Amino acid sequence: MSEDHFKKVIAHAKEYGFIFPSSEIYDGLGAVYDYGQCGSELKNNIKQFWWSAMVRLNENIVGIDSAIFMHPTIWKASGHVDAFNDPLIDNKDSKKRYRADVLIEEFREKINQKIGKEIEKAAKKFGDAFDETQFRQTNPNVLRNQEKIDELTARFVKALENSDMAELRNIIVENEIVCPISGTSNWTDVRQFNLMFETKLGSVSEDAASIFLRPETAQGIFVNYLNVQKTGRMKIPFGIAQIGKAFRNEIVARQFIFRMREFEQMEMQFFVRPGSEMEWFAYWKDKRLTWHKALGLGEQNYRYHDHDKLAHYANAATDIEFNFPFGFKELEGIHSRTDFDLSQHQNFSGKKIQYFDPEMNESYVPYVVETSIGLDRTFLAILSTSYKEEQLENDTRIVLSIPPALAPIKAAILPLLKKDGLPEIARQIMKTLSVDFNCQYEEKDTIGKRYRRQDAIGTPFCITVDHQTIEDQTVTLRERDSMKQERIHIEKLGSVIDNKVNMNKLLASLI
Ligand code: ATP
Repeated sequence: MSEDHFKKVIAHAKEYGFIFPSSEIYDGLGAVYDYGQCGSELKNNIKQFWWSAMVRLNENIVGIDSAIFMHPTIWKASGHVDAFNDPLIDNKDSKKRYRADVLIEEFREKINQKIGKEIEKAAKKFGDAFDETQFRQTNPNVLRNQEKIDELTARFVKALENSDMAELRNIIVENEIVCPISGTSNWTDVRQFNLMFETKLGSVSEDAASIFLRPETAQGIFVNYLNVQKTGRMKIPFGIAQIGKAFRNEIVARQFIFRMREFEQMEMQFFVRPGSEMEWFAYWKDKRLTWHKALGLGEQNYRYHDHDKLAHYANAATDIEFNFPFGFKELEGIHSRTDFDLSQHQNFSGKKIQYFDPEMNESYVPYVVETSIGLDRTFLAILSTSYKEEQLENDTRIVLSIPPALAPIKAAILPLLKKDGLPEIARQIMKTLSVDFNCQYEEKDTIGKRYRRQDAIGTPFCITVDHQTIEDQTVTLRERDSMKQERIHIEKLGSVIDNKVNMNKLLASLI
């Protein structure tokens, strides 16, 4: 996928009511977006798929919906006030701002790609006899580049661990990393920047307290741990799931809905016995990748990436990365957060936050394994992979091959003509099908144009009502991907559509 593809996806998302820039009539607001009529349907379906997979299919996981505003001490306890920073750097010539860590990571990925190309070339040359491991261990170019990556990573991790901003700058300058806009390495110093949005609670400014918009939904789960454990009579291991908005004042926001200042997370905190966290970490890594793959976007588009530097709360962390139009990037994080958060809240609140384990006959602060996925990034993964320009015999078409269970509209009902009683029959079909599926009625333009419009928003089925329908109660059912058309009886429509679009089928593939 290319930059050109990405541009087309963004334009298409706007043209067909998936995503609009926020406040567009006022020229927009940086890195904030609105979901339109198709986008909000797709987004809701993704949420439903996640929620059902986590909460409904796991008897030991329950869901909550906590408030965005929380007591300010929570963010002291969680470490966000002191440590939720990104290192920023400006290029003096282009006046563009970057995240220093991202500049270094991208530089490293370029070296990694060189290795990938070398391997690809050799694999082609040697065919079946190719042994990648041996090649990696012996090829001088690969070895040299791997050594570069290892040295760079070691230095980078150390700089991050020591919060050594001068060293981050040195790495950038010494590796001749340049600004992609100006092409120069005329860099400012690197500075820490806290990503939390601060606002005031209360109407009288003198007594107003400073609070933060939450930068993650997880803390709303931690501070409700006792409430849920007690009222839900939950036994360890158990999980609490939540979907909700999070806010981060991102330094760089140039990648559409990949990096937004207001976004949505789908997070699950899984509370386990101390000492068992690595087992659960492995379990959730696997489970979550299976969930992604069930969407059918292509298994080759996912990979794990272990963190170079662990966050202050973690003892293990992996990202599930997706092959976005701009390369492999984080889609979901799986983190073993130890007992850090609950212990911190215990210390800061003075309330005992523990679990009495009847089998062990002792109380402890549970350990936590978290799965944290970006809803908007999942949306982008689906949209960018689904967007296809197809060359047909005498025509071209743009089709969104969205997984049918997630498609905004499941079926479009189209009377061939606006007369002869056809609209009435079509409306009746629409009424019946709407109970089970999100349908759309369309009678304007030629049938060909209407098919194209439905392809462009990813509608799995089009139902055309014509004169034969009056005679024998059959309609033409057209399937989006194959474009195959078949005549079927109106009474069969429900079950044929259901067979393809029912989310339960996707869910069943997970158990
Ligand atoms: P990144 O390294 O890309 O900034 P992160 O490691 O800070 O991401 P987490 O704190 O692990 O991200 O958040 C969990 C998930 O929330 C991410 O995997 C991502 O899908 C999503 N997410 C984080 N920041 C944003 C953002 N600014 N816009 C959209 N989604 C985001």
